[in-house]
Amino acid sequence: MGDWAYTKGLHELGNGSYAWLQPDGGWGWSNAGLVCDGGESLLVDTLFDVRLTREMLAAMRRAAPEAARIGTLVNTHANGDHCYGNSEVAGARIVASRASAEEMDELPPETMANLMKNAAALGPGGEFLARCFAPFQFDGIAHTPPTETFSGELRLSVGAKEVVLLELGPAHTKGDVIAWLPGDGVVFTGDILFIDGTPIVWAGPVSNWIAACERIAALDAGVIVPGHGPITDAKGALRVRDYLVYVRDQTRERFDAGLSPADAARDIALGEYAAWRDAERIAVNVHTLYREWSAGALGRANALELFGLMGELEKRGRARGG
Ligand SMILES: [Zn+2]
Repeated sequence: MGDWAYTKGLHELGNGSYAWLQPDGGWGWSNAGLVCDGGESLLVDTLFDVRLTREMLAAMRRAAPEAARIGTLVNTHANGDHCYGNSEVAGARIVASRASAEEMDELPPETMANLMKNAAALGPGGEFLARCFAPFQFDGIAHTPPTETFSGELRLSVGAKEVVLLELGPAHTKGDVIAWLPGDGVVFTGDILFIDGTPIVWAGPVSNWIAACERIAALDAGVIVPGHGPITDAKGALRVRDYLVYVRDQTRERFDAGLSPADAARDIALGEYAAWRDAERIAVNVHTLYREWSAGALGRANALELFGLMGELEKRGRARGG
């Protein structure tokens, strides 16, 4: 682990690159990145709402004149905490994987705003969802999708600097992308990495995510900016892999023993990972693994039910003083 303080705001990484960090990295509190060279700029991700994104862009403009006009925006994936602020860089070239662009249309900000308005009537799942996302303002956000998509790999330039986009999903979501600066040893991973927080496997397969962690570790980057949590290095990427391997193996035992996914999630002792933020995400991770192993017999999860189970597990964790 490097010497990077985990404090809110802009952190200069050297050579024209910056990370924007939002402690504590819990639900919706995502990181973003900025790459500048030769009068050009590339932004990696926007934030969950307009206010947060404007605040970030203002700080970036103060630090780097190139950020006055963002030339290219890369969205690492479709979760709103990485793209709902896109309207604030309208006019930029907006790049995402094709799979992410399709997924963004499934839950645009308007839908999220309606969901939050109706959350109280949606039972325990709605209650937990509303609590997780209460700090954010989804009303009136204009859905601003990518202007350009790719699959696999895309090489971009920012001034004389090369930025390599690698699609490592489906894993966290359907189309996860990382942005790698081979010349600087810097990589922005989006939510392939949660550091000191619990990864949430919305899409899977988990094997893809495990491979993605190993790929990131092998890039030999000294500075790794995760989607949530403090700046890390290859060791941090391998810790996320270790969590996924542990959860996969623990879940498999319970799958083979015939437990329901909900009971398996309730039963797994997280050991050293229990201290990671938002440990209740085990509910989603177990469900995704069951879906992988049940060859279509178990359908795509009802997100509200999963939020309900996460709420139950979170409450239990708090009761234990976790
Ligand atoms: Zn995120």
